[in-house]
Amino acid sequence: MQSAPEKFRGIVISRQAYRESDLLVKILTDRFGTKMFMFNRARKPGFKLAAAILPFTSATYEGTVRADGLSFIRQAADLSAHPHISADIETDAYATYILALIDMAYPDGEPIPQWFDFAASALRRIDEGVDAAILTNIAEVQLLAAFGVAPHWEDCVVCHRTDLPLDFSEKYGGLLCRDHWELDGRRYHASAKAIYLLRLFATVPLSRLGQVNVAPTTRRELRVLLDRIYDDMVGATPRAKRFIDQMGQWQQHL
Ligand SMILES: [Zn+2]
Repeated sequence: MQSAPEKFRGIVISRQAYRESDLLVKILTDRFGTKMFMFNRARKPGFKLAAAILPFTSATYEGTVRADGLSFIRQAADLSAHPHISADIETDAYATYILALIDMAYPDGEPIPQWFDFAASALRRIDEGVDAAILTNIAEVQLLAAFGVAPHWEDCVVCHRTDLPLDFSEKYGGLLCRDHWELDGRRYHASAKAIYLLRLFATVPLSRLGQVNVAPTTRRELRVLLDRIYDDMVGATPRAKRFIDQMGQWQQHL
């Protein structure tokens, strides 16, 4: 049975060579979640959809979307590229990782329109020059729920106060106020600034995020805290994360 062609918005998340001259392209769509599309002869010169399947490209695609197996695209229109992202090794790494993390958090084919919107705004804002490391931190915090971890960021898990200094506790799955720090000997010892930002990141819509200016020491602390939260509570990271870890190591040696 031939399924009717569908028209949908999509963002290219990743590509891999397939057979002799074909390409498999993972696309985050607005209606069908993430889907794997097969492009015949896409690695031959002069392939007509070449621009539509470059990394980070978003477009209106038309094709056959299958519930199982590979899907196909015939046409693409309204392409928008993000030239500044790919031109910079660092923003490229962050954008790649944000898309890989969304891909990892949800099974293929599960509709995630809110994450399509998130990815579209994140790419636009990185391209505009907003701090890609901070946008990455926001994605990491907001994706925790999808990994089955939903830390309690609102107030102290035990007494619900917010007027005392707060710290993060894996054991309690969220924040503890100073009166309850004694309950967890392995609390994170995070700074007030970092806790303030993590709480903000948990709820801020990207559309409402203003200009972000985070001091280098706080940026480094956020990276360490989120690595620890992911290690302790999620236990997995996409391969794209390794490059970000390496960049962190190079920066320490500068
Ligand atoms: Zn408390």
